[in-house]
Amino acid sequence: MISFPSKNISILVVDDVADNLKILSTTLSQQGYQVRCAKNGSTALLGASTILPDLILLDIKMPDLDGYEVCQKLKANEATRHIPVIFLSALDDVLDKVKAFEVGGVDYISKPFQVKEVLARVKNQIALQSANAKISELNQELETRVNQRTIELKTANQKLRREIIERQRVQQQLVYDALHDGLTGLPNRTLLMERIEFTIGHAKRNHGYQYALLFIDLDRFKIINDSLGHLIGDQLLVAVSNLLQECLRESDIVARLGGDEFVILLDGIKEPHDATLIGDRIQQKLRSPFELEGQSIFTSASIGIVFSSTGYNNASELLRDADIAMYRAKGKGKARYEIFDQAMYHETLKLIELENNLRLAVKRGEFVLHYQPIMSLDNNELVGFEALIRWQHPTRGFISPVEFIPIAEDTGLILDIGKWLLREACQQLQKWQQQFTSIPQVASLKMSINLASQQLQEPEFISMLDQILQETGLNGNSLRLEITESVLIEPGGSVQNTLKQIRNRNIKLSIDDFGTGYSSLSYLRRFPIDNLKIDRSFIKQMNFDSENFEIVRVIITLAKTLGMDAISEGVETLQQLSQLKALGCEFGQGYLFAKPLPPTAIESMLATYPESFSATACS
Ligand code: C2E
Ligand code: CA
Ligand code: CA
Repeated sequence: MISFPSKNISILVVDDVADNLKILSTTLSQQGYQVRCAKNGSTALLGASTILPDLILLDIKMPDLDGYEVCQKLKANEATRHIPVIFLSALDDVLDKVKAFEVGGVDYISKPFQVKEVLARVKNQIALQSANAKISELNQELETRVNQRTIELKTANQKLRREIIERQRVQQQLVYDALHDGLTGLPNRTLLMERIEFTIGHAKRNHGYQYALLFIDLDRFKIINDSLGHLIGDQLLVAVSNLLQECLRESDIVARLGGDEFVILLDGIKEPHDATLIGDRIQQKLRSPFELEGQSIFTSASIGIVFSSTGYNNASELLRDADIAMYRAKGKGKARYEIFDQAMYHETLKLIELENNLRLAVKRGEFVLHYQPIMSLDNNELVGFEALIRWQHPTRGFISPVEFIPIAEDTGLILDIGKWLLREACQQLQKWQQQFTSIPQVASLKMSINLASQQLQEPEFISMLDQILQETGLNGNSLRLEITESVLIEPGGSVQNTLKQIRNRNIKLSIDDFGTGYSSLSYLRRFPIDNLKIDRSFIKQMNFDSENFEIVRVIITLAKTLGMDAISEGVETLQQLSQLKALGCEFGQGYLFAKPLPPTAIESMLATYPESFSATACS
């Protein structure tokens, strides 16, 4: 039961009989209700709409407007319709109870009134009304909460939808990133491999379907990157990727494998010529320079081409063969394309085998050094040796350095090998110097050692050299390092600095194979060089070819002008010897004097010095 205070509850009592009004108002007032009275229907309507009462006690039988009519009007008015009406009626009146409810009454009380009944019914009505009010208030509250919650849900829903869209976008981006190269935006290796697999599958199902793969590697990109900086290097890669795309059809795909390697998949070609045409087009376009950061930059590319006709089962085989053909293009002088064939594959296999064996050779100590005497042409005296490496392969026998040194350089193994042979050669000369003290010349003999350019570029080269000299006890003055012309044109000042440090240790420097490289006079002046070794290809044909004779003469003159000595390689005949003497060449080396020999053979020659040497030279 809802309790309520009667205090602030107002009741309008309507009756045309003054006594009735009085009794009711007194009784109700005593209970704490605020009571207003109206003597007729019109006053009641006015009173009710001016100040809304909480309850109306309405007499039915009144002159002019009767209770029913008043009630109907109250119910018709929006402002008053909710006010509960209790009808009052004399017992003898024919109370139409049904009508009383029809017109909107909620209860009725019979006259003469029983005070208790009046109070009870009033109290009931008020309680009912209050309960209704509470219910509607609760309803209102509930509705507000439902509305609020609905809005919250809508907002949450929208947020969720936005999150889902964002997540989908991120996911798509991740997938895209996983399949594309960040710098150029081209498909990457993963996507390329997928596409190739797809194409291979398609070709298997469709007889006669042809495709080709082009493996593109920029020539000398590292030099551009190192000398002009990575920013320009990156810009060049982007420019090249644009150029490649311009050379293709819609259906073709160009991917970046990484570094300066690109791959083009030509899908559905009519004939191999279609692919070589693209190869030509790329080479043609690369002939114009790229304009980057205000500089004109030239680059070229080596391209390997492989055709579907070879019958491939998977993408990596195809890529491998295109790579092999690309290496062949590099080997044949770069800036060109080569088409893959089976012979290339077998050669590569052999090369890989050799490379693997080479790795083991370092560990197993299969290298030996042979020493070739270098003679003074003036007086036929021994002045030193050139240390030449030999590989004693357990099954293949001796392998020529011409075959394995380039591989050692490519793979970086030359650093280990070079370190070993430097120590070995120094130790050997030091040993001979101690062993043959009876021969005065031996103390001033020099050991010539070939250096690969990579060795010179090693930051620790000088400290390694110092350590070897210290350990072997050899004087720097007894050492001569042979470097090639290509070392001199290497960009950056580090080589120049290393060469100076070598000279500071009294070590001599020779340019090997002189005349076959690119060195200009300015390079020769800039670097602290002591000797030029004239390449044996010039000496070899000196006999028949006056042009070579001229070249040798020019080199010897050049050496003299620059204050250097000339050393001729590959002296095989007495005729060559006398020609070289006539030209004023200081030193010579060649089969005429001695072949490169193992240490024991050199030792027996030194034991019978000087007869052994002059005998060879005069034979
Ligand atoms: P290179 O430095 O020009 O060495 C001279 C080559 O000419 C040697 O070949 C030598 O055996 C050969 N030779 C000497 N006299 C004559 C001659 O009268 N007639 C003919 N036809 N040849 C003669 P080898 O030993 O086969 O070495 C070839 C190349 O391998 C060397 O050319 C050098 O570039 C490289 N090499 C050899 N040993 C080493 C080494 O220890 N370190 C490095 N980095 N390279 C080496
Ligand atoms: Ca040499
Ligand atoms: Ca040479």
